[in-house]
Order: sequence, then C-alpha cells, then structure tokens
Amino acid sequence: MSKLPFMMGRYKWLVKVLSVGAECKGEDPNGEHKKPTSTKQQNTTAHTEAKKCLDEKVENNIPKKPRFYIEEHKVFNDPIHGHIKLHPLLVKIIDTPQFQRLRKIKQLGGGYYVFPGASHNRFEHSVGVGHLAGELVKALRAKQLEELEQEQEPSMDSESLINDRDVLCVQIAGLCHDLGHGPFSHVFDGMFNPQADPKGEKWEHEDASIFMFDHLVNDNNLKPLMNHYGLITEGDNENDLVFIKEMIKGSLKNNSPQNEKLYKGRNNEKSFLYEIVANKQNGIDVDKFDYFARDCHHLGIQNNFDHRRFIVFARVCNVDGQLHICSRDKEMANLYDMFHTRNSLHRRAYQHRVKMAVEIMIKDALLKANQDPHFQIKWAEENMCSLSEAKRHKEAYTKLTGRGFEVWCLKLTTHLTFKTSEVVYTCILFVLFAL
Ligand SMILES: [Zn+2]
Repeated sequence: MSKLPFMMGRYKWLVKVLSVGAECKGEDPNGEHKKPTSTKQQNTTAHTEAKKCLDEKVENNIPKKPRFYIEEHKVFNDPIHGHIKLHPLLVKIIDTPQFQRLRKIKQLGGGYYVFPGASHNRFEHSVGVGHLAGELVKALRAKQLEELEQEQEPSMDSESLINDRDVLCVQIAGLCHDLGHGPFSHVFDGMFNPQADPKGEKWEHEDASIFMFDHLVNDNNLKPLMNHYGLITEGDNENDLVFIKEMIKGSLKNNSPQNEKLYKGRNNEKSFLYEIVANKQNGIDVDKFDYFARDCHHLGIQNNFDHRRFIVFARVCNVDGQLHICSRDKEMANLYDMFHTRNSLHRRAYQHRVKMAVEIMIKDALLKANQDPHFQIKWAEENMCSLSEAKRHKEAYTKLTGRGFEVWCLKLTTHLTFKTSEVVYTCILFVLFAL
C-alpha cells in the first residue's frame, strides 16, 4: 500500500509522455485522430519530423524535478542503526569514486589483526555519521518548532531556526567528514606522515577531508545538482560549500567576543550547528556516537552509552550569549557512560599493545615503500608520485587505499629480495599479518 502514491505518480508521468508522443504523431492525446494527408515520401518526412518532435517534447516534459528518479530516497540496512533513509543528493555523493574509496580503508587500522571482528571500514562509519547528523539536526529543529507552537519563551530568535538547507548541509558534512583518511586510517596521518614528511606542513585527516570534498564536488560536477536541491554553491554570503567544509573542520573553541562573526558559512545564531559533526567544545558529537557503537559492535565490547536517548533530550540553549547544544541535567549518567565507553575502548582496543606493534610494522613498511622507486602511484598519463606526495595530488590520493598497499606488498616481496634484507623482512612480516 505504501508504494501506491509512488506508482500513481509514475503512471501519471508515463501517461504524460505517451500523450506527447500521440500529439507528435498527429494524434490528439484525448483520442481524436488527425487524418494523414500525403504520399509515402511525405509520410517518411513526417515520420522523421514527428520523431524529432517527440524527442524534444519528451525531453521538455520530463519534470525539472523528476520525482520518480532523481528525488527517490534510498534505504540502507546498517547493522548499527537499522534501516536508514538517505536524501538523493547524499546517495549521489556516496556513488562517487572519492567516497567509494572509503570501502578500502580500515576503520581501526591494525586492529583487525588483533580483533577478528574489527574488519569494518570508513565507508559504513561515514554513512552512519551522515545518518546520525541528520537525526540530531532534525530533532533540534522539531524542538524549536515545538517551542514556537507552545508559545514558550523561545530560546532563540527566528534567525536561528533550522531550515531544509541547514539539514542537508549537516548531513553532507557528516557523510564526508572522513573522506581524507589514508591507508589504515590513523596509521597514515598520525604515524606514517610525520616521519615520511617531517618538514611538511602540519597535516591532519580533517584537512585532507576538505581537500577531497572539493575534489569530489568538482570531479563529479555536483554543483548543478546541489543547486537543484536548493544549496548555494557560489558567493560569500551563506555559501553552503564553505559551511560544509567548516563543519568538517569542526567547531571552534570559542574565546572570541560575542559580536564577532565566528564562521563564514553561517551567522553566530546558527553556530550550534557546528557542534553536530565535530564538536571541539566538549567532544560530544555524532562522529563519536557512531564509532563508539560500531567499534564496540565489531570488537565485542559493551557500549552503555545510548546515543538515541541523547538525541531525544538534546536542545539548543543560550549559554553566556552563545547558542550551544545542551543536555538536561538528568542526562548526566548517560553522558558519563559515553566517556566511560571512550576510556574503555582506548584501554582495551585503540591502544592495545599488540595492535600498536602491528601498526608500527605497517608504518615501517609504508616508510620503506615510500622510499622505494617501485612504489609509485600513477595518477595521470605520465604523472607518478610516492605515498607521502600523494596527499598533494587529489587524483593520486583517490587511488591511495589500504587494500592496494597489501597487494603491492605481496607483489614486491619477491621483487625486493634483490634489495636490502631489511626491506624483505618488513614486507614478509606484513604479508604474514595480512594473511
Ligand atoms: Zn569519523
């Protein structure tokens, strides 16, 4: 029954297209036929013209917002959040090479070599964060509308009311916040990169995510589609691309005067939106909600924090002249459980002794590969670069994943036999772990 409106809509659209066809063939769409007037040759010419006319009219009659194809939401079955429904623009972003690359990047780096269940990747985590970002921003909006309806004293003015554009941007920021992770996640940005490029600028995966988000939008020509869904992609005023990138970078620790504009993408009345994906004020954000739940699920560790409850009780409050996402006092126990889970995950998994040892070996193998001329990434017809240089070339970085590295190691184990024994040792150890 739930499919009926969709089927009816599709049927109407089909009838419209068929009626255009009938009109072009000289038939009245309502059923009254026009008589053919001429010879065989005239018929052929008429047929060609009719076909051309049909093509043009069908094209013109496809709705500017074709509900039945472009606007269709997609449902993903996620092991943590269940069935989640994503906006078509989010689906379009997921269906790009830059996003699909996350399928090949291990969420917990070397953790999979210690915990056999920890085989999950950045891809599913990013989809989960996009979903939770949408849940939290919609819950805050519902709370705002509730307050307005009940005519309570509003905690904010109309400028701070969340609109559809804000919701979509927050979801995109959640979805794309980890686009910049390199092979084995934090092994690449936290361990490999500082040693491979010691004189380089400070480089974090958030910066790479912004770099890759720009590449994703431009390489797939997404701006027209973003505009189609109401986003603003040009100019200095409320530019949504700027807003999304600022959210990926995270909220600022606010020490600035109240009247100073904190962000470029949105005014201070909406500064609380920056606390949803990456909250630098207190560390409570949907990124952690997803990875605590997902990592615990795959590691086999208990998670006592209930992020669904947090979302239900969250609201925006004015704290010392600034709007922030706040929780009720009775939610203290739930938040305590969140920080306890974090502590537990670090002690038992993220800083696990053997996991760290494996990651040091992976880092050493990456460093050796970085110095070896055979480990080059071909990113254009004649352009090659090393692993540490890849972060400066968006096409090369799109190709740099953990899975490819394992394959290279397997291939080069025999190749490097003729080189230093140290390299062979590192690679063989790595391959043993990879098996
Ligand atoms: Zn994340």
